[in-house]
Amino acid sequence: MKRVDEHLADILGSVRELPPLELALSEASGGVLAEPVTAPVDLPPFDNSAMDGYAVLAADVAAASETSPVSLSVVGDIAAGDQGAYGIAPGLCARIMTGAPLPGGADAIVPVEWTDGGTAKVTIRRAATPGHYIRRAGEDVTAGQTVLPAGTRLGAAQIGMLAAVGRARVLVHPRPRVAVLSTGSELVEPGRPVGPGQIWDSNSFALTAAVTEVGGVGFRAGSVGDDPREVLATIEEQLASADLIITSGGVSMGAYDVVKEVLSGLGTMRFEKVAMRPGKPQGFGLLDDRVPVFTLPGNPVSAYVSFQVFVRPALRALQGLPPAPPRTVRAYLAAPITSPEGLRHYLRAELSTDADGDYRVFPAEAQGSHQVFALASSNALIVLPEDVTELQAGDTVDVLELP
Ligand code: AMP
Ligand code: MG
Repeated sequence: MKRVDEHLADILGSVRELPPLELALSEASGGVLAEPVTAPVDLPPFDNSAMDGYAVLAADVAAASETSPVSLSVVGDIAAGDQGAYGIAPGLCARIMTGAPLPGGADAIVPVEWTDGGTAKVTIRRAATPGHYIRRAGEDVTAGQTVLPAGTRLGAAQIGMLAAVGRARVLVHPRPRVAVLSTGSELVEPGRPVGPGQIWDSNSFALTAAVTEVGGVGFRAGSVGDDPREVLATIEEQLASADLIITSGGVSMGAYDVVKEVLSGLGTMRFEKVAMRPGKPQGFGLLDDRVPVFTLPGNPVSAYVSFQVFVRPALRALQGLPPAPPRTVRAYLAAPITSPEGLRHYLRAELSTDADGDYRVFPAEAQGSHQVFALASSNALIVLPEDVTELQAGDTVDVLELP
């Protein structure tokens, strides 16, 4: 049997990052930046007011207090967007709004709340020190500074950063489009009634959601019966538009394992037994020299674990990201476990911290690869190496945190 690490290395050896595209900012959300972005200007680009108030000379108001307020003449209003026509001399001030450019000569802002709000003359009841409520040019970002390195996932804050430095278009690795197909004549679409011998298709929904969690755009190519022609036609149909294809079911040793039957010999597809539990029957290869195809086993827990172990790193590689597994921590076992010799074992588990702040992990009791309740109630997978067969409570293990 092939080792997990070997299988993953083969996969990563044949997956290439998607070529970067120049996208309009409004299309770039969720993509991964393929270039470092530097600021062409300072942010803020000019000294401006942090408050609605009055731009003053600090020296003029140094002695202002409730009992001896200072009165200044207001030369005019400066709104956000104005171009700084005013200059302030001793005895004068300008009414100024948040974000408006600081007028020449002024060195402090007195917030309107400290004044009588006058428009021709204003009475100021508190002193302000130089620099008070002034946002200085460059105090956020200086011109030439890298604001986002290549490899950054563009979330809302990062998209805002790009717009703030004036970028309309950016080079990104686009979100991979992933077609997800369930196979099995027993499968029924949720929402429809199930008859005898039938079950609802859960894999295509779970795997599509898993794709989203890794930054891809998953779409269900639906569920097809164990009919070779239909399975092949559906996969071929997706090849044109997908960056990656995931199927589930039909790859083990049964008489109706159609995925294996129709894809064997196509492209670089190989069907192998990987020394792991759950998830032993795995298929992977490139079709059309370009599209990675993962044929995962049908049992829902097997399909899900296979996704985290093999598909997730590949999807990250497509996006130009390090093909890292989910975050791994060391935790101590809250209960003893046994494991088959020679297999990498992924156990559904609940990870938490104890009263001392140490990671503690409870293996779920139900470890069957069909037991979706235990999976849905877990937040982690214990990873046991191939040579481990028995561990006691208190022993430490590697634990993958599930997204
Ligand atoms: P297979 O790999 O096709 O032999 O399927 C293994 C087991 O997983 C069988 O019990 C199937 O009924 C079940 N299974 C396969 N595909 C799905 C699916 N999409 N949703 C839920 N269970 C599935
Ligand atoms: Mg099947």
